[in-house]
Amino acid sequence: MPKYTYRCEACGEHFEKIHSISEKLTDCECGEAGSLTRVPSLPFCVSVKKPKAGQIVKDFIEDTKQDVETQKEEMMRGMEDD
Ligand SMILES: [Zn+2]
Repeated sequence: MPKYTYRCEACGEHFEKIHSISEKLTDCECGEAGSLTRVPSLPFCVSVKKPKAGQIVKDFIEDTKQDVETQKEEMMRGMEDD
């Protein structure tokens, strides 16, 4: 299963979790619900732009979509290599 990096908006903590592509964590271990943002782990996905408040949700959805597409491509590539 793939490894994901999450960041908590409440406590600022980063941590990694291994789970399936269809799963998504939202609640931090600090007890804050819905505070987790998945951090793209691939270097070319990292962007330093700081979105405005209203833009965050939209960007997050786009990032998540891109992430899923990347995972799919990686899986396909892995199969071709064999
Ligand atoms: Zn937290």
